[in-house]
Amino acid sequence: VSAMEGRAGLSAGAQDRPVPRFEDLPEYRQIRMQELAGELVKIDNPFYRTHDIGAGARTEIGGRSIANFASYDYLGANRHPSVHARVRDALDRYGLSASASRVVAGERPVHRELEARLADTYGVEDAVVFVSGYLTNVTTLGTILGPEDLVIHDEFIHNSALAGIKLSGAARRFFRHNDTAHLEELLLDFSGKFRRILVIVEGVYSMDGDLADLPRLVELRTRYGFWLMVDEAHALGVLGPGGRGTHEHFGMDPACVDIWMGTLSKTTSSCGGYIAGSEALTTILKGAAGGFVYSVGLAPALAAGALASLDLLALEPERVARLRNNGRLFLDLARQAGLDTGLSEGHSVVPVIVGDSLRAVRLSNDLLAAGVNVLPIIHPAVPEGQARLRFFITSEHDEDQIRETVALTARLLGDLVRDNFGLNAIDP
Ligand code: PMP
Repeated sequence: VSAMEGRAGLSAGAQDRPVPRFEDLPEYRQIRMQELAGELVKIDNPFYRTHDIGAGARTEIGGRSIANFASYDYLGANRHPSVHARVRDALDRYGLSASASRVVAGERPVHRELEARLADTYGVEDAVVFVSGYLTNVTTLGTILGPEDLVIHDEFIHNSALAGIKLSGAARRFFRHNDTAHLEELLLDFSGKFRRILVIVEGVYSMDGDLADLPRLVELRTRYGFWLMVDEAHALGVLGPGGRGTHEHFGMDPACVDIWMGTLSKTTSSCGGYIAGSEALTTILKGAAGGFVYSVGLAPALAAGALASLDLLALEPERVARLRNNGRLFLDLARQAGLDTGLSEGHSVVPVIVGDSLRAVRLSNDLLAAGVNVLPIIHPAVPEGQARLRFFITSEHDEDQIRETVALTARLLGDLVRDNFGLNAIDP
């Protein structure tokens, strides 16, 4: 039977099946419902606002100059001339793209320079960089774990780590946020029952701005013999006098943590992610992580930009001190004004918790109208009833900006409360 006849035979008598429609996916319906709900209550969508200039302590939206508390540019590297000069130089020398995986023809000197610098920052043997922070978690966890392993993680870890655990097929349990007693209960239950156990926490939690209890975690690691992974996305450049992150903040030996993970998109104002740790760990990732081997190398100009930002951090540690003071000032003023800052310890992230999603969206829009850009974080990114505005503090905010922003937030939230959070104005 020829191939043509075979195909014709197979389809004979079979009913045509309709091709599935993306419109029928629950994800699509949910997003459209949210948009419709916003239109119904006449609220502008605060997401995807277009900024006309690069991220910094001020931005421009719709031709207006606005105070900006919504970017990760913690130390002001994004628009810094010394960073731009290095990026331009790398662009001239290496072009825009690595144009291949590093394994084949994508390796440039700046990749290893950046990795050596990151390893030095953490005081560990080596580091490896990937093209995105998200991918770093996904491919690392997908490579070092398998179905015989167990991950125990803080309930608030980032979505990218959850995606990596899923990819690996490892079993998963979570412990209540920052509750190391709960973690220990789980360890007592599960130790010895899996090939390996990995515990994942964040140095600074991205939605709440509080810190992992590294000293206690390290004690538990010694007792129960698990791998410890710390996501430093919001801690590099933020914690410790030199901005080296969580280990410097607690004055601990970085080797107490098996996997230091971070992103290049925050303090280093670039794009990409990294793992720092032992030579064996980085060797495994460079040889076996699909997201490294089968993905293009980090764009050389982005690597150069991240390196220049780390230089800026080393040369001007006063930026870290300014960030710390600004975070403290923002947190103190917000608390004095009666705002609910949740668990924040006033480092890079200070949330103002307002309750339901509608309130958070309205407050964000009112603040924008008054000249402040800060984004609402709503369900499902945070639990229902915990919607918030998330203020990112940077070294480049000035005191007046912080004082005015906190006062405005308190006043506009007060107006919304009096107005029943805008619900009085809604035409049912
Ligand atoms: N980990 C954490 C804790 C994050 O907050 C983020 C991003 N916000 C990532 C990982 C992913 O990093 P990137 O955005 O650089 O891909």
